[in-house]
Amino acid sequence: MPRTHASLQRLYIEPDLAAGTSLTLGKDQSLYLAAVLRKSVGDEVVVFNGRDGAWLARLTSDSKKAVTLEIVEQIAPQSPKSDLWYGFAPLKSERLDYVIQKATEMGVGTIQPVLTRFTQVSRLKHERMVANAIEAAEQCEVLSVPEVAPETTLEKLIGTWSETHGERTLIFADEGTDSATPVEQISRLEGRPVGLLIGPEGGFSADERALLMAQQFVVRVSLGPRILRADTAAVAALAVIQATIGDWR
Ligand code: SAH
Repeated sequence: MPRTHASLQRLYIEPDLAAGTSLTLGKDQSLYLAAVLRKSVGDEVVVFNGRDGAWLARLTSDSKKAVTLEIVEQIAPQSPKSDLWYGFAPLKSERLDYVIQKATEMGVGTIQPVLTRFTQVSRLKHERMVANAIEAAEQCEVLSVPEVAPETTLEKLIGTWSETHGERTLIFADEGTDSATPVEQISRLEGRPVGLLIGPEGGFSADERALLMAQQFVVRVSLGPRILRADTAAVAALAVIQATIGDWR
């Protein structure tokens, strides 16, 4: 994303983007642009839809109920969807918001809620998770919003892993393993599709650990000598992955 437009507000929208087209925003986005950000006719914003790259758009109406935009020109090509898969035991509300936003900022392509024995969350609000992923994508200038998959259980995930994920290796962050750096193990996965699995506040049960360790596709890693909170563990593990074999290089 060229820095020349870094100061412009970024907005995720659904419709296709092409030069010369125009579109009308919904109530929420119109209110946000016209009332909160006080944008007016002629002001510019950057819009993206996850498919067509980033586009410069100009307000042609600043009505608080229905802002209209003229799509001017593409300013960044669509980046490929990240192949990095992130599975996690959902956390309670605001920490769940946090972990969805951090996973998006850290460049995951798929966010997969995984219900485990000690997961303390009952009903997951899928649309809230999607909204958090979109908000994070707008803020951190990613061009493709990670897919938020419907929740599954650990047993189902493991049972269907090979048919769903083929050759992908699952990096299992196990708080129960001896402290060690994960760098060598993760570096050895260079060039391979990988996923990361982070457990709930209560950690993994013995049965879950045994199930995971029985799988050929699982690589168990430690995240050091301290027990990290699940949201800290996610960011820490994703940082090591991106720095050693991912898109930070
Ligand atoms: N049962 C403990 C740990 C839960 S931490 C507790 O209740 O405090 C939540 C998740 O973060 C773990 O399941 C694991 O996936 C990850 N995690 C935290 N610290 C870790 C470490 N030192 N090594 C590997 N994974 C860790």
